[in-house]
Amino acid sequence: MTLVTNLGFPRIGAKRELKSALEGYWRGELDARQLQETAAQLRHAHWRLQREAGADVVPCNDFSLYDHVLDTAFLLDAIPDRYRALADRDPLAGYFALARGVQTGGFDLPALEMTKWFDTNYHYLVPELHAGQSFRLRGDKPLAEYVEARQLGLDARPVLLGPVSFLLLSKTTDGSDRLQLLDRLLPVYAELLQRLHAAGATWVQIDEPCLVLDQDADDHAAYRRAYAALAAAQGPKLMLATYFGALGDNLALAMELPVDGLHVDLVRAAPQIDAVLDALPAGRTLSIGVVDGRNIWRADLDAALDLVRRVAARIGAQRLQLAPSCSLLHVPVDTRLETELPANMVAWLAFARQKIDELRVLADAANGAFYTASTLELARERRESRRTSPKVHRPQVARRLDALDEVQVARRSPYAERRRVQHERMRLPAFPTTTIGSFPQTREVRQARARHRGGKLSDADYDAFLAAETERCVRMQEEIGLDVLVHGEFERNDMVEYFGERLDGFAFTHNGWVQSYGSRCVKPPVIYGDVQRPAPMTVRWSQYAQSLTERPMKGMLTGPVTMLQWSFVRDDQPRATTCRQIALALRDEVLDLEQAGIRTIQIDEPALREGLPLRRADWPAYLEWAVDCFRISASGVADDTQIHTHMCYSQFNDIIDAVAAMDADVISIETSRSRMELLDAFVRFRYPNEIGPGVYDIHSPRLPSVEEMTALLRKAVAVLDAGQIWVNPDCGLKTRGWPETRAALQAMVEAARRLRAAS
Ligand code: GLN
Ligand code: ZN
Repeated sequence: MTLVTNLGFPRIGAKRELKSALEGYWRGELDARQLQETAAQLRHAHWRLQREAGADVVPCNDFSLYDHVLDTAFLLDAIPDRYRALADRDPLAGYFALARGVQTGGFDLPALEMTKWFDTNYHYLVPELHAGQSFRLRGDKPLAEYVEARQLGLDARPVLLGPVSFLLLSKTTDGSDRLQLLDRLLPVYAELLQRLHAAGATWVQIDEPCLVLDQDADDHAAYRRAYAALAAAQGPKLMLATYFGALGDNLALAMELPVDGLHVDLVRAAPQIDAVLDALPAGRTLSIGVVDGRNIWRADLDAALDLVRRVAARIGAQRLQLAPSCSLLHVPVDTRLETELPANMVAWLAFARQKIDELRVLADAANGAFYTASTLELARERRESRRTSPKVHRPQVARRLDALDEVQVARRSPYAERRRVQHERMRLPAFPTTTIGSFPQTREVRQARARHRGGKLSDADYDAFLAAETERCVRMQEEIGLDVLVHGEFERNDMVEYFGERLDGFAFTHNGWVQSYGSRCVKPPVIYGDVQRPAPMTVRWSQYAQSLTERPMKGMLTGPVTMLQWSFVRDDQPRATTCRQIALALRDEVLDLEQAGIRTIQIDEPALREGLPLRRADWPAYLEWAVDCFRISASGVADDTQIHTHMCYSQFNDIIDAVAAMDADVISIETSRSRMELLDAFVRFRYPNEIGPGVYDIHSPRLPSVEEMTALLRKAVAVLDAGQIWVNPDCGLKTRGWPETRAALQAMVEAARRLRAAS
């Protein structure tokens, strides 16, 4: 019989119970025992839920109090020395110190660096290693969770991050080769496997997601050495899990490794099935990921069933397991909590619980169970209702997209000419100063928004409140002496949600939370239908703000790629098509702003880089449509209207051509923490347009001094043409407080004045 398995379950809880417990613990309101109790309750509830939904095999050790990569580092004792005293004294405190830093009890330690987990919006903590590092087992988390499940009568399958991916996801602080540490690491993995085996585990899921990346000969050699050693350990059977893409040129290697099972992602990489079947060694168990662990749509069960039957016919039902494409960490828990979505929509969605239901139906149908006919029929009806819904398919949007060829996606004149007319019109001083958009979102601002939403504050009163906040913000910017002002974004909850709420084709869930890192969750909008803009979205507040001042007021928009990247995107058309629809809606907004007298318009694309595919070979195609979408949004305006863009959290070296092709008149970037290192790419490229390299690290409450900012600007002046440089913070100021913001911006304006005086 074909088994239903799962590779991982969301940990945070359907109602973010883990978040509450963690934050309560960090505030000192809960003790460690209470935190661990909540964690155990969540594990138990999630195991029960998965069993109820029909999983034959549930995962364990997929749970984490913060992050599974950090858990792995901690388990292997890969702890930098500076945290060791604390971790030895109080393991939980040490663990959270690695995760989020500590500044109490005589300790002053920053957190480990955090980075994105492959191309998801989940962030992991980057283990810090060094040459000669030693490893040993510290604690027994995988074992304890296995035993815990066993006590509930479940033979769970422990999940481990594999040794090669663990090393490849880590960094060394001394520049040494991470893979050199493999031989020191393997005995620890072997010991762990043996202990799991002794405790009764028959299978272990060992994740090597790096097998879907570009891997070189050294990487390949590492996998070979690693799995030879693990096979020799004689532990449980190993299910080698790969996900987020095709094995591609790593396929032959994956087949060669001495493991008992292989999991492949057939959602992201459906076509690889033939090559996988052709190469699969006799006797190896194959786990196929046939429902999407990265998105929230119900699967096409008929198509999935065909695939399941085809694979079963080739290798036999006994050797086949059904699973989600990857861990369900990346989707919310249960659609049954969504009671307020537009009609029908909830029937189109599958969160973690529903995805396991789907796998159960597929397995039962493949095994010939009678009941499944009606379930499959219901699934068909749901798909049909989505396919034919007038809320999903809007002919006018399709027509507009078909006519895209006629849309001018380049600005009217080349940059040099635009620069001339913009300077003539705007007459800004050298080193013009500006900010990135948002000003402090104080408790009063958030409370007013919440009360308005809850019907406790009338539209008129809320508007009056926003008008007053905006005016105060404009006056303050004038006093500080900034050159190009912003309205402050007080009316916005979030840079995607605000726009999504004003566009057709977007929906918002109530409990659709997904872990971003630690206790931090996001609730991505759902782009379910053709996107169009029923009415202007930002003109009113921008125009109001402009009416308050003689200085130029920047209009603020979130770019099309960022909206796409931070949402759950429909799966019934290419992402590029959805992105173009958003871009066209934004193009209209840009033109409306221009018409309303807003002649400086910023289109933020902080997520452009995040959208890069995992394999290099796929980059050019992505960058082409992503840049195209930005240009669709931006290019309708007159030459003397100035288009800005903003990209934070980005490295630019390998995408600088694409960034230049966006052809924004001004780009602001985050450079203060890297002390202007991130400018290098622009310098080497001889980037011709204007640049605002951030001089104020807005992620820290620390106040930068005038001297510091002047020094950073001098670094920029040394490598760029002074006439290209703008002066601004790294990013928006929404997380900062007013007093520090005012002081920092005053110092920033003073730094610009010093530079003007010196040049
Ligand atoms: N305009 C946005 C703001 O200032 C940009 C935020 C971002 O880049 N993440 O908040
Ligand atoms: Zn930013």
